[in-house]
Amino acid sequence: MDAATITSWMREIDASVRAERDHLVQLDAAIGDGDHGTNMTRGFAAVVQALDTDPGSPPGKLLILAGRTLVSTVGGASGPLWGSALRSGGRVLGDQEVFDGGQLVEVLAAALASVKDLGTAAVGDKTMVDALEPAVEKLRARLADGVPLGPALEDAAAAAEAGMRSTIPIQARKGRASYLGERSVGHQDPGATSTALVIRALQKAVVQQNS
Ligand code: ADP
Ligand code: MG
Repeated sequence: MDAATITSWMREIDASVRAERDHLVQLDAAIGDGDHGTNMTRGFAAVVQALDTDPGSPPGKLLILAGRTLVSTVGGASGPLWGSALRSGGRVLGDQEVFDGGQLVEVLAAALASVKDLGTAAVGDKTMVDALEPAVEKLRARLADGVPLGPALEDAAAAAEAGMRSTIPIQARKGRASYLGERSVGHQDPGATSTALVIRALQKAVVQQNS
């Protein structure tokens, strides 16, 4: 994998959050302020634009640029959270031109660590962590078992989607939805939903590049 992997990952995220914008807005309208779909759409459209103006940078630098762009274009909680996630992930790669599956796990693990550090959320708090953490763990475990990257990413995306659904019956303990207390129960978390799209986008980007 290389810089083109990161560019196509960001393009896939842009396309999928735009396609799901209204759904993300509805989910956030139910337990938040209804801006999650527009936040993610605005942010990743700006990321794609920023990457287009920076051909030739190595993959880690592109992730850092993507993260910086999210921080400066997204006002909601998801901007700084994904912004620091992508910047931390990018720093793992330094200046290297190519990376392998094991390093991709470390990129995602660093992203997860910075989300948890900044947002102080754990699995079960009904946030994006509920989708991101199982995805990172699944990818790490499958690769450790010797499963090839494509199928391992498929399993990671499925784990993110299962984590997304696991937010429905629980009460929010972090973020805006936590203000609702028990009334947040029964609704799928918008941030966990877009996180499942982010991991699915990665799976698609890697499959495309290897086909
Ligand atoms: P805002 O809540 O500021 O309007 P968004 O609507 O863009 O921002 O994003 C909401 C999502 O952000 C939530 O659904 C949740 O997944 C995630 N989120 C909010 N606070 C936290 C936190 N402290 N840690 C992790 N994720 C969080
Ligand atoms: Mg919101």
